[in-house]
Amino acid sequence: MFQTIQNRIALISVDGDPSAKTGQEEAGGQNVYVHQVGMALAEQGWQVDMFTRRSSPRQATIVPHHPNCRTIRLNAGPAEFIGRDHLFDYLPEFVAEFQKFQQQQGLYYPIVHTNYWLSAWVGMELKKRQPLIQVHTYHSLGAVKYRSVGHIPVIAIQRLAVEKACLETADRVVATSPQEQKHLRILVSHRGRTEMIPCGTDLQKFGGLPRLEAREKLGIAPDAKMVFYVGRFDRRKGIETLVKAISQSKFRGEGKLKLVIGGGSRPGYIDGMECDRITNIVAELGLEDITIFPGSLDHSILPYYYAAADVCVVPSHYEPFGLVAIEAMASQTPVVASDVGGLQFTVVPEVTGLLAPPKNDLAFADAIDRILANPSWRDELGVAGRERVEIAFSWNSVASRLSQLYLRLMMQAAEQYQNQPQIFAA
Ligand code: UDP
Repeated sequence: MFQTIQNRIALISVDGDPSAKTGQEEAGGQNVYVHQVGMALAEQGWQVDMFTRRSSPRQATIVPHHPNCRTIRLNAGPAEFIGRDHLFDYLPEFVAEFQKFQQQQGLYYPIVHTNYWLSAWVGMELKKRQPLIQVHTYHSLGAVKYRSVGHIPVIAIQRLAVEKACLETADRVVATSPQEQKHLRILVSHRGRTEMIPCGTDLQKFGGLPRLEAREKLGIAPDAKMVFYVGRFDRRKGIETLVKAISQSKFRGEGKLKLVIGGGSRPGYIDGMECDRITNIVAELGLEDITIFPGSLDHSILPYYYAAADVCVVPSHYEPFGLVAIEAMASQTPVVASDVGGLQFTVVPEVTGLLAPPKNDLAFADAIDRILANPSWRDELGVAGRERVEIAFSWNSVASRLSQLYLRLMMQAAEQYQNQPQIFAA
């Protein structure tokens, strides 16, 4: 017998564990998004179960986060880290385990919100087997990403096909920026229903720390010119552009420049190799004395870094949304970002920061220097950034908009499935 609680929702994120430590290989914005959306929906009264894949035998099967929100880890393939490009073959097992979990617990999820293309496939398969509403967020689009990378993996054909099928069949696709919505239409399919609901950030956690207090905590001199990057070590993130830009900064000679590159990496993995490559470039350009690699920064210390910085740089080659930009803005720190994807939506040039062409280190150097040269303009940009985030990007407002979307879809489905009103009654 199924428990038919209408406000029960499954967030599926096969490859992005919402309980994982972020900032390491393949643990970034998607993990944060699923966790924060889950928690905010739970606060708003939804019963949220966040499903992911077990990637270590030591991991608990169920992690409670809130009376209404928990992470559930299903077995799908060996309990070890497996890169996203190698997970597809384990998805049928994930689908079977999801259904087994429902059966064993006597639960039923009328809404399944899937994340990234791997989970899109899981949602589409589940939809063949049980009545459900599928909402999907891509987090990254193969059709855009493969245009900016040198190496296209074997799985690309499969991924592009799943992304297209999902757009055409999901009850709703959530695009996180108008740019992503446009890419979906132009590069994926002209069919399918999309709605733009952005990502959010934590307005309490990020913001409110005075710059000098943050610097004291981190041991950064009050008069240093601090440039900050945080994120995964991945070529797509364009860290090389930032390092080259810093080597050309006009402040380099003054001895005050400080470059902080935050993010975790593991020797022997792709992020470890990228970290080594960046470390070598830093050495080649003679920037070792002014560069700090603090490693992975968890959210208890990260707000100090944002607050301490004069400027936060997001030099990605491609960025579907880019949480780091709005975290920095929430912290009243101006952002210099690549003029791509969701960064064109979050960063308002000359108002909350500056945009520069991707991979163009000279343009980045110029933009960074303009902000470093003018502390009162830096502060104005910071205040405007905070205002923009308060208006447009809180997790609560994101969850409210998602909640309204789910309810609307449930009402439509209730009409469609008139013979099973207990399932979709809103
Ligand atoms: N992050 C973190 N610690 C780190 C590096 C990154 O907490 O050392 C977090 C960062 O605060 C942000 C997320 O990881 O919330 C990265 O998201 P973004 O959308 O910027 O990039 P993605 O990883 O999705 O490409």
